[in-house]
Parts: sequence; C-alpha cells; structure tokens
Amino acid sequence: MTLRDRIIRRIRLDGPLRLSDYMADCLLHPTLGYYTTRDPFGAAGDFITAPEISQMFGELIGLCLAQSWLDQGGPSPFTLAELGPGRGTLMADVLRATRAVPGFHAAAQIYLIEASPKLRAKQAETLANHTPHWLDDATALPDQPLFIIANEFFDALPIRQFQRDGQGWRERVVGLEGDSLTLGLTGPAPQPLLTHRLADTKDGDLVEICTPATPVITALAGRIARHGGAGLIVDYGDWRSLGDTLQALRAHETVDILADPGQADLTAHVDFEALAGVARANGCAHSRLTTQGVFLERLGITARAQTLAKGQSDQMRADITSAHRRLTQAGEMGNLFKVLGLTPPAAPPIPGLAP
Ligand code: SAH
Repeated sequence: MTLRDRIIRRIRLDGPLRLSDYMADCLLHPTLGYYTTRDPFGAAGDFITAPEISQMFGELIGLCLAQSWLDQGGPSPFTLAELGPGRGTLMADVLRATRAVPGFHAAAQIYLIEASPKLRAKQAETLANHTPHWLDDATALPDQPLFIIANEFFDALPIRQFQRDGQGWRERVVGLEGDSLTLGLTGPAPQPLLTHRLADTKDGDLVEICTPATPVITALAGRIARHGGAGLIVDYGDWRSLGDTLQALRAHETVDILADPGQADLTAHVDFEALAGVARANGCAHSRLTTQGVFLERLGITARAQTLAKGQSDQMRADITSAHRRLTQAGEMGNLFKVLGLTPPAAPPIPGLAP
C-alpha cells in the first residue's frame, strides 16, 4: 500500500488531518517516509544543502564552535552534536577543520540526532574514523557542556497553519474530495498558541507554528545555560513568520504539496523569533539574527576560498568561486538563510554573530 493510500484510509476513518500530521507522515513514516527511504541530497537528488555545496561551510562552522569552546575555557568532556546531519558531510568537515585545535577532539563526545535509519547508515560511513553516538531526539543529550549545529533541521519539522478569522483562527487541514487529497479549513476557534499574533495580523492572514521545535530548543537551551556551550541554528526563514511558506521540492523543482506523499521533500520557513523566545525562557542568551552571507564573510570565507584555490586548475578555481557565491550572495543562499546563535548569558559572543 502506498503512503498516499494509507493517508486516504486514515482520513476516511478519522477525518481531515492537521498539516503537521500529514507532514510528519510524509517525511518520517517508518517504512514509506521521504527521509526514511532515501538519501535526497545533491545534484541527482531533490535539493542541495550548504555543506554539500562546499567544504568551506562545515570548516568555518567547526572553527567557530571551537573558538566558542576556547572562549568558554575549553570544558572537558563536552558534547559536540548535530541535529539532522544528512549525509554526515558537515560533521566530517567540522572534525577535519578542528583537528589542530589543542584538546578539542580529546574532549569532544560526538552525538548525532537523526530519525532516518537510512541516513544514519550514510553518516556512519562518512564518519568511519570517529565514534559518534546516535540519538532519536535532543532531549536525550547528556547533561554536560553542549556545542551544537543544526543546518536545515528545523525547516523539516512539521508545522501547523492557521488563517485569521475575527478573534479566532481556522486551521488548514488535509481532507478528501472523492479520491483526491485537498486542502481545507476547520471552523474558526480561539487558539491560545496564537494570542500574541492577534496584534500583528488581520482577517485572512495565514500564520504558521512549529510545535515540535519547542522541546528541541528547550533541551538545547537548558544544557547550554546550565553547563555552557553554544548552539548555531542555520535555516531559511525570518524573525517572524507570516504567510504560507510550506513547500514541496522534488528534483530541484517546487511541486504540489499533496501530489506525491513521501516522494517529495516538505519544508517550511523557520520562525526564528519563536525559537529565540523558547531559548530565553530556558535561560539562554541568543545572538542577533544574522544572514548566512554576513556570518560566513565575518568568519573569513573569502580568505578560505583563496587558500583553497591556490595552485588549483582553472576548473577547480571556478568551482570554488561559484560555491563561495552561492553560499554568501544575496539572491542565492546568502540572505535567504539566517543564523541564530545560543550561548549562556555571560559567555562571550559566538564568532561572526553580534549579541
Ligand atoms: N544538515 C544536513 C541535512 C539537512 S536535511 C545538511 O545540511 O545537509 C534534514 C535532516 O534532518 C535529515 O538528516 C533528516 O533525516 C533529519 N530529520 C528530519 N526530521 C527529523 C526529526 N524529527 N528528528 C531527527 N532528525 C530529523
């Protein structure tokens, strides 16, 4: 039975699905989900991420986390973790770049939070020279200093969408028309999670919330606030979400979100204000939201690109220049992607990010 048939059967039995339930099934159904059944990255896949574009991304992130670790006195042991590591490329680049930082590797215990068995196997291959531990979710991270990176993780967490109707909200749901999946709206109802959005929205506006992000940020922020550490959250999105940002990607093209459940990647923009609020409520300080382009330039990506290009073939030099552009320029990933840093309140700011 296809995932689409299962979803239709579920709707016939239980009624329309919240978008978050639809998205969770599409992405992580144990046998038919998008991430559980494939390696979606790269030119031959559905989308490409910053670490897959160039090693420079992971190297600079690694040195940034290592500098934060030094700035906080080099605690040992500490957790070096990644949320949603994909192919393991970013963590491999982090580890290679930090080899020369005295004491960093000896003190680091590597944790990868990954839901997909298929991608866990790929990560084990990529990181064969290290001994990572895998976890199902961030709440199981050890209680010790935590230095953690999440690139394009939060955009994969299921969202709910609400449309403003007077003082209430209608929730967008996935229902059935005959044998076709369709989007519908529930009747209007008060929504306590959105009280703060009554002030900045009008009738008909659509807002999104990502409830599964809350326990993740709570887990990170609590550990960073209590034991020290730093968190880097890199993703597309903005300080406050407004409008429909849910999209399906297949073979680098945008497709209908209902067209092929489990066959396309589903993502939504990250509401960084919501993440920062949860971090603050758990005792953490956070940086200013900074564009990826500015962050990488402050960390020295231009110098790194020049070093890498030295003595290389014309083709290699052109590839490095093109990767540098894609990662940093406005109109490419440079201003679409943002970075939010988490630290203990008294810690020095994370390199590249203003407090
Ligand atoms: N960070 C990687 C991959 C981003 S794709 C990169 O930049 O290339 C999203 C990753 O998060 C995948 O590895 C996916 O399997 C994982 N993932 C998605 N939802 C998850 C969840 N709820 N819990 C743990 N991992 C999840």
